[in-house]
Amino acid sequence: MHAIFHHAQAVLFDLDGTLVETGIDFSRLRAATLQLIAEYGVDTLPLQDLDALGAVEKAVEVLRSAGRAEESTDLRTRAFARLQAMEMAYCAAPRPVPGVYDLLNALKEQNARIGIITRNDRRVSLNTLEQLQIPYDLLVSRDDVEKVKPHPQHVTVALERWEIAPERCVVVGDYWMDVEAGRAAGCCTVGIWRLDVPINPFRNHPPDLLVRELRELL
Ligand SMILES: [Mg+2]
Repeated sequence: MHAIFHHAQAVLFDLDGTLVETGIDFSRLRAATLQLIAEYGVDTLPLQDLDALGAVEKAVEVLRSAGRAEESTDLRTRAFARLQAMEMAYCAAPRPVPGVYDLLNALKEQNARIGIITRNDRRVSLNTLEQLQIPYDLLVSRDDVEKVKPHPQHVTVALERWEIAPERCVVVGDYWMDVEAGRAAGCCTVGIWRLDVPINPFRNHPPDLLVRELRELL
């Protein structure tokens, strides 16, 4: 196993694109979300650069500050339900990333806790983990935090639950938000710049270790 894990008591993994392939089309999630937001009369032009979750949170803020709190709650509920339905469909046939079982089993042998930190819906994530029989100790989905990655709350929730110091934890993910969440919490970070991704997603958020495939960590 890679030396970065030698003193780790816990390793937190992003799910989609890191441990599993689900084929979630994030641009379609975003388009569907922006369409819903527009129904509430919120200008979606300033939201174009955000992902689906980011756009929902921003639109909720806009509605709240306009004194439309009730509608903001309604939007959030409807947007999350729509995203869940779409994610459920995309995650119907997940595939494990090469090397995932070997790596997780090696970490288990070392008595490291394994956590899954994901911006996905909890039910969708549980489904995926169960279908692929991924071994893990804790799941921190978007339903388990108030602020999603890149906010460090996904990480701090796990560390507090386990009473593990951040410097004994490694955070692994395929997107800069994973690295940023781990770094902000004080953990060691591993970025996986996937072979099918042309531009380095970590160019502005360099991780402690950059690899191109999960199995390089074995
Ligand atoms: Mg990912």
